[in-house]
Amino acid sequence: MPELPEVEVTRRSFADAIEGATVLQARLGKPLRWPLGLGPEQLTGARVGAVSRRGKYLWLPLSRPAASGGLLLHLGMSGSLAFTPGTGAAAAGAHDHFDLQTDRGLLRLTDPRRFGAVVWSEALAANPAAKLLGGLGLEPFDPRFDGAHLHAGLSGRRVAIKLALLAGDIVVGAGNIYACEALFLAGIDPRLAASKLSRPRAQRLAQAVRGVLAQALEAGGTTLRDFKDAHGVAGSFQMQARVYGREGQPCLTCGTPIRRIVQGQRSTFFCPQCQKR
Ligand SMILES: [Zn+2]
Repeated sequence: MPELPEVEVTRRSFADAIEGATVLQARLGKPLRWPLGLGPEQLTGARVGAVSRRGKYLWLPLSRPAASGGLLLHLGMSGSLAFTPGTGAAAAGAHDHFDLQTDRGLLRLTDPRRFGAVVWSEALAANPAAKLLGGLGLEPFDPRFDGAHLHAGLSGRRVAIKLALLAGDIVVGAGNIYACEALFLAGIDPRLAASKLSRPRAQRLAQAVRGVLAQALEAGGTTLRDFKDAHGVAGSFQMQARVYGREGQPCLTCGTPIRRIVQGQRSTFFCPQCQKR
């Protein structure tokens, strides 16, 4: 599943190239998670603005003579976005469900499982975008995201801390791999009740969340030079993972075998020695 770092690396892969381009044609394939919200022909002639990211959503502003707005894109479970310069891209394949052909190149969403989405919204602050983004927590690199914010968000929650991170309503970006890694770095047992986390440990966890996401971004930036496949980022980060995917292997700090448990139907990996309740 594409996580925040992969989405950000994807954004960086085409944002500069597409900014200022004019849409020549938009094409829809099979239905995605939600309908586009307008006829694709209405996008013809629109000018593309600066692509931004919020959580795992990308926002592609489009100004049209009639009305301005933009496309909110989500990669779902299996989606990837690729930008091919020029107008000579290959014809759409069976899993290509959205094409935005511009005078600078083709932006194409490939999504075999079709949980992804491309949705028209008149503004980020207007529905449907506002509704989709409304429940999201702070961005991990937002200066307001610190130990105090995390501690306040976790207070009163009886769920396990790992699940509270995955919920994404305190801070976005701590998906399954990154939540496991951050909890290891902060020395926190993933089963600890969220409300039991002390303020100093919340500070360490906030730093760890930012740290693993920064590391993942760096890994993506160095390995995905041609950005053909956004999923390669998670793959390259996994090479550096300290606990994720390492069940039974020795902890890199203390040598204790890494344990795997299931929380909220997702695998959690942790060191039972280094990570305390
Ligand atoms: Zn250990």
